[in-house]
This record gives sequence, structure tokens and C-alpha cells, in this order.
Amino acid sequence: MLFFSRGEAERSRAPAPARKSLFTSAKKSDIIIIKQMRSVYKRKYHNLKGMVIGMREIKVTLKNGEVRYFTGGVTGADIAKSIGMGLYKAACLCAVNGQTRDLRTPVTEDCDFAVLTFQDAEGAKAFRHTASHILAQAVKRLYPEAKLAIGPAIENGFYYDFDVEKPFTQEDLALIEAEMKKIVKEDLPLERFELSPEEALAYVRQQGEAYKAELIEEHAGKGEPISFFRQGEFTDLCAGPHLPSAGRVKAFALTSVTGAYWRGDATKKMLQRIYGTAFPKKEELAAYLAAVEEAKKRDHNKLGRELEYFTTVDVIGQGLPILLPKGTKVIQLLQRFVEDEEEKRGYLLTKTPLLAKRELYKISGHWDHYRDGMFVLGDPAKYEEPAEEIFALRPMTCPFQFQAYLARLRSYRDLPLRYSETSTLFRNEASGEMHGLIRVRQFTISEGHLACRPDQLKEEFAHCLELAKYMLGAIGLLEDVSFRFSLWDANDRAKYIGDPAEWETVQNTMRGILDELEIDYAEELGEAAFYGPKLDIQIKNVHGKEDTLITIQIDFQLAERFGMVYIDAEGQKKTPYVIHRTSIGCYERTLALLIEKYAGAMPLWLAPEQLRVLPITERHHEAALALEKQLKAAGLRASTDLRSEKIGYKIREAQMEKLPYMLLLGDQEAENGTVSVRRRGEGDIGSQAVAEFIQMAQEQAREKVIF
Ligand SMILES: [Zn+2]
Ligand SMILES: [Zn+2]
Repeated sequence: MLFFSRGEAERSRAPAPARKSLFTSAKKSDIIIIKQMRSVYKRKYHNLKGMVIGMREIKVTLKNGEVRYFTGGVTGADIAKSIGMGLYKAACLCAVNGQTRDLRTPVTEDCDFAVLTFQDAEGAKAFRHTASHILAQAVKRLYPEAKLAIGPAIENGFYYDFDVEKPFTQEDLALIEAEMKKIVKEDLPLERFELSPEEALAYVRQQGEAYKAELIEEHAGKGEPISFFRQGEFTDLCAGPHLPSAGRVKAFALTSVTGAYWRGDATKKMLQRIYGTAFPKKEELAAYLAAVEEAKKRDHNKLGRELEYFTTVDVIGQGLPILLPKGTKVIQLLQRFVEDEEEKRGYLLTKTPLLAKRELYKISGHWDHYRDGMFVLGDPAKYEEPAEEIFALRPMTCPFQFQAYLARLRSYRDLPLRYSETSTLFRNEASGEMHGLIRVRQFTISEGHLACRPDQLKEEFAHCLELAKYMLGAIGLLEDVSFRFSLWDANDRAKYIGDPAEWETVQNTMRGILDELEIDYAEELGEAAFYGPKLDIQIKNVHGKEDTLITIQIDFQLAERFGMVYIDAEGQKKTPYVIHRTSIGCYERTLALLIEKYAGAMPLWLAPEQLRVLPITERHHEAALALEKQLKAAGLRASTDLRSEKIGYKIREAQMEKLPYMLLLGDQEAENGTVSVRRRGEGDIGSQAVAEFIQMAQEQAREKVIF
């Protein structure tokens, strides 16, 4: 091994004073180092002597603060080995002074050193990107005429784009996977080399790789050398970093193949994109693939249709779902809950028009900053003709609720003024973006705008956040969200209105509020609204795609644009702050996330049908219908299955529909005024008196118990 710790070094070198480079003060201990080095370097470099001359000792500070000394030129892999073989085996990359590098790259300077494993995002990325090289190598072995495009790591996996004559089939994927296994067995090292831009271009052209040539041409202007990676007979243009060898990619799978345009440009050639994933261990891969299968089953776009929550039809259009009775019921329940809770918290309801003249959106800035996202009515050729009356469906409620504020002059005593509305909005999303109930063109949001004085801003913001968290808790999603503080991007001024200094001030105020509320947030540049910064409450869908569920925004600009003022205690006109917020988000999106979270088994308080009465035979029908009436009168959503099917069949069907409760009614129950209760997830929980059961179910619904 090439290192010795500071303690050992000093013991062996004592009483040697200050450390110097190896060859200016060769001592016994140094000779030992050189001998140790030689065994390693003999393997690595032919010209040992040349390498050793000029080599100096470097100081390497490990993650735990421990300092070790190595001979300059030591590789990251060797340092990792010196720390422990377990770590070495798990190592994907290393970070040298915070810079990510291949483990094979020599370390020549004093540095802070850390090993990155698959547990680190960068490590996992290199791991999966290396798998994409193995995929490309396998494809080139099997289909030598295939042309290579690009092969990055992505979240949870990797892909590689190929230009081939015939699209790949599932059988092809199996063959390619088998070839990849062979390559992994060969355990080829990934070796980096550089060429000048001219040499690089000649090299890839000679191999007939036109896509690579295009990529090099774009870089050539910079005059920097172009890097390649070689593993066995296969070479790929690449910046890296990678694992040190292909043999480390022990567990992988090719998951799908689709068409993909070169550079995502529909005017360019359609390539074949093979997707895959890779993990260090077989068990991890198996668990991941199982989770993907499970996710497919939970996907609201599939399950929500199967369970008849919603449907879509071509003749109505993309992104315009039809909510069926079950979906509509859940949304109604959420909506009542939100409206009642907001009323308790001092909100005033408004109901404002779904469309307005272009002039309103000109004041708000939407006409100039958001027109592509709006449905504008009428002849586009006349959009800019002042005499024309041009209308547009509303993409947000703010400009409308501002008019409510403007209905009379406000005093500082009127503030804070909290408006809420169950508001339907329209956004012209691109058709490729549409997804079930999550991304739609028409949706209904628990909208609200608060106008407040500067001294009220913090408290009002905190209240909005508390309300959102309360709502998330009630539907069981609070543990699933993360918080994103969305800032403006000072380098992309066209996207925003207003003065940079004011942006900074308001963002700092908001950061202060978030810190005081001890919100664990991540900052994200360029995600602010065009009028101000926002707190986004983010959630991932079942496939891991992140979306905003709830947002709370501080707006220091639109009130002024709309001429909203209040008279302060000194009789002066002042502009209020506006908070844009939602308390449970868009109802359609929230419904989608609930379907996925609970795999269709809605919590009792939200279940469209909470319980079903199952008479054992026909002679119990009358008693069953009487029971249903009693349950409904108690505010429970019940039905009765009167079909002449076997009881086992009726139970199975109610289970498939994920009903929270089934109440079985036979001779004994009819006689005693009891029901035999089956609870979702538990099965038979025994007999209960009807009144007792009703009380229990009512309480569980009221308390929003989740089971
Ligand atoms: Zn690469
Ligand atoms: Zn708004």
C-alpha cells in the first residue's frame, strides 16, 4: 500500500524534522515507500524511472478528517483500497477537492478526498452511465452497422440512442442483454484517452459515426482536447466519468425500447432508444423491477379508469377528463372540506367569471408573459386590433379576485383580506405533456389570494402554510411531500417583471420566514412566478415524476399594476402585498395522487362508497334495504348488493372495488339487529350491533382515520 498515516510516518522517520519531497532527503522510510510504489507502478507504467522522477508526496485529507500521505500519481482506486477493501469494491468514483473523477485518474496534488459509491447521486450516475457504454458495446458487437448517438444516465437508469435500419424487438433486447452479460464477465477496464479536435473528428469519421462527428464539431471551436473511453475493442466519445471497469456492473436489465428523435428534434432522424437500469446488487435490481411493476398497477391513469373514477374521450379532447360519479364524489368531499375549513379561518368566498377581455390579462402581464399557455377566443389575426373585443379563458384567478378587492376603497383595518374560490382554470398544455388527471387542460383549484400589510406578511404566510399542511395531513400525503423555495433567475430577465433589487429584498424576506418556520426546503433558481418567489410543495407520482401539488407565493408587483391600495393609519395610500396560494392544490391532481397513494383504496372519509350491505339470501333483502336506509340517514355512503350471486362472489367483488366496509346480513343478524362486519385489509372483524357499528364508522369518518 502506498500510504502511511501521519502517526506511523513520524514514528518511522523520527527525529526527521520538516517533511520534504522524497528525492531531496531520501531516508530509509522513503526507500520503503519507493519499493512499495514500484510494485504498483510496475503494473501501471512501463517507464517507472521516468514516472518516479519528479514525483512528490501528497497530503490527502479523508472525509473523516484523517490525513494520509501518498506518493503523487497515486490513483483514487489505490487510496480507496488503503481505506478498506469493502469501500474499494463499492467505489464508483472519487471526489478530489470536491471535483468528481474516475478512480483510475492519478491524484497529483494535496487534496480533500472522498470515495463516491452508488449511494451518492454522482456515483450512481457513473455506474449507470457505464452500463450504457456496455449496452453500446453489445449493440456494436451484434449489429456492427448500428450508428451511435448518445447514452446518458437518467433518474433510475440509463439509455442509449442508436441509428439502425430495423427497430429493435423484445427478442433483440434479450440478445443484447445476453451480450452485455458477456462483456461484464470480461471485466474490461475503461481507459481514457484524448485527441485533438481534428484527430478526434478524423477518428470518428473513419468509424462512420456521423452523430459523434456532429457532437465533436460543436466542441471543436473551443480548441480543447476531446476525450474518449475505450473498453476492449469498443471506443466511445465521452467526457466521463465512469466506473474503472465494466465488471462492476453486476446487475442490470434492459427495460424498454422506443423511438426518439436525434436531439429531441422532430425534424431530425428517428433513432431507437433502449432504456435500461443497473444496480450493484441483484437483489436491488429485483426490488426495483418489482416496484416498477407495482407502480404500473397503481398508476392513476390505469387504475383510475379501471375503478371508474374518470375517463377521457377523443371527441372531447386531450387533457379534458370526464370525472365519473366516483371521482366527482371524492372531489366534492375534498371541496366541502376545504371550503368549510377556509371559512373557519377567515376566508371570504368569491365566484368570478371563467373568461375576460384581453385587456385584463394585459394589466396582469399574462397577455405578454403567458399567452401561449392560454386559450384565446376569436381570430388570431385580430388579437392586436384595439377595436376588437378579444376574450380569453382564464389561466389563473388572481386578476379576477383583485377586482373584488377593488370593489371599494380599503383601509389598513380591512387587512388582511383573504379571498378563496373553488376556481376552474384553463391552460393550453402541449399535447405531449398530458397525463391522466395530473396534467390537464381544464382543472379546478382551491384558489385564494390574500392582501396584507407588510407587518402582516409573515403571519399570513405562516397561516397559509399551516393550512396546506393541515390539508395534506388529513389526506395522508404530508409525509410524501418536499418543499422547494423557487427563486427568480437574474440571468433570465425576460421571464420576470420588476426591479432586481426588489426581487432580492422580497426573496430574502421570504427566506427569513421559511427559516423561522423551520421549513426544510431546497432552493431552485428560475422556478419563481413571473411576479414573485414561491414556496412549492412538491410530490412525486408513482413513477417518481415530481410535480407541484401546492404553492404559496409572495407577490410584490401585481397589486401595483392593478392599482390596489389601502389607506394606512396616517391617511396615506399604500400598496399591499398579495399572497397567491392554494390549500389542497388542483382537485384533479390531488385525486390522481390519492388513487396512486392508496392504490384505489380511498380512506373511509373520502371513499365514494363507504360500505355495502350484502344480504346472504333473497329472504334478507328487505332487512338489507332497511339497513341501507338507516346507514344513509346516518350520513354514511352505502349501497346494497341485491343480485342473486353467491355471497363469496359478492365479497370478492366488493374487495376488488376496495370498499372500506362490507356488512353481511343473514338470519342471525336479521333476528338480533346486528351485522357481520368485514373491514378492508382485515377481513371478518366479527358481529356488531347496528347502532354500535354506525357510531364507530361515523367517528372514523369524522376523525379522518386512514386504514
Ligand atoms: Zn461515457
Ligand atoms: Zn394567483
